Amino acid sequence: MSSFPISNFIAKPGTKIDLTAIDSSAMPFQKAKDRKEATKRLEALNDELAELQRALWAQAKHRVLVVLQAMDAGGKDGSIRKVFSGLNPSGVRVESFKRPTRKELMRDYLWRAHDKVPVDGEIVVFNRSHYEDVLAVRVLDLVPQEQWRKRYQHINDFERMLSDEGTTVVKIFLHISKTEQKRRLQRRLDEPSKNWKFKVADLEQRQLWDEHQLAFQEAISQTSTARAPWYVVPSDNKWYRDLVMSEIMVQTLKSLELEYPPAEDDIDGIVIPD
Ligand code: ATP
Ligand code: MG
Repeated sequence: MSSFPISNFIAKPGTKIDLTAIDSSAMPFQKAKDRKEATKRLEALNDELAELQRALWAQAKHRVLVVLQAMDAGGKDGSIRKVFSGLNPSGVRVESFKRPTRKELMRDYLWRAHDKVPVDGEIVVFNRSHYEDVLAVRVLDLVPQEQWRKRYQHINDFERMLSDEGTTVVKIFLHISKTEQKRRLQRRLDEPSKNWKFKVADLEQRQLWDEHQLAFQEAISQTSTARAPWYVVPSDNKWYRDLVMSEIMVQTLKSLELEYPPAEDDIDGIVIPD
C-alpha cells in the first residue's frame, strides 16, 4: 500500500507550479485496473484510516488539519464522503467556509479559520478555507491587491505556527479540467436529485475560469511548504481522486507514529468483580 508515492503529488516548495501542465485526468501509479478493483482498495484504505484514527483519538496528542480546495464542482463534498466515511465521528469535524458573515468580516480573515482548527486527537477538514481570501477575494476583487498579496506570508506564518504547536497541516487541491466541470454542472441540471447543487452564479464563476486557475496557481506556489505542503490531485476521475486522497491521509497519519496510551491507573493484577 505504501508503495504509492504521494510525494509525487506535492507542489514543490519554492517553485512556481503551472496548473495547465498538470493533466487533471492522469492516473499516475494507478495499479487497480478498474473501478471495481479500486473500490476494494479504497475500502482497505478506509479500514486502515479508521484504525489510525482510533489511535490518533485515543492518544490525543496530535491534531490534523486537512485543507480542501477546488473549483466549483471539483468534488470537495464527494471526496469527503468517500474518504472519511467509516471514521469515528467523535474525532472528525468538517468545517465549510462560505462567504464571510458580517460578524466575520468585522475581524481579520484568519480569525474564523483559527477558531475552527482541530483539538488534540481530532481531524478537521476545511471544505474551502482561509485560502478563499487569496482566491475568491482576488478573483472577485473584494479587497485591493496590495492587501491580499500580503496574505500569502500571513498564511505561511499561521500554518507554521499551527505546525510548531502540534498540528499536522495537509492541503489538497482537487484539480479538474474545464470540460469536466461542464460535465458535472450539466449533471446538476439533468438529475433532479442534484438540482439543489446548481447555482446560476456558478456559471458566472465559470466564465472566470482562467482567473480562478491563476489565483490557485499562485496561491499554491506561494504557500506550499515542507511543513504544510499542497498536494495537487488529478480529480477528473472520481475514484482515482478518492484513492489518492485516502493514500495521503493514511500515509500522513502513519508518519505520526501513533501509539495507544497506557492506562492511567495501575491495572496490574486487577480482577473485575462478578
Ligand atoms: P459546492 O461545490 O457543492 O457548490 P460550495 O463550497 O461551492 O459547494 P457554496 O455555498 O456554493 O458552497 O459556495 C460558497 C461560496 O463562498 C463560494 O463561492 C466561495 O468562493 C465563497 N467564499 C468562501 N469564502 C469566502 C471569502 N473569504 N470571501 C469571499 N467569498 C468566499
Ligand atoms: Mg458552489
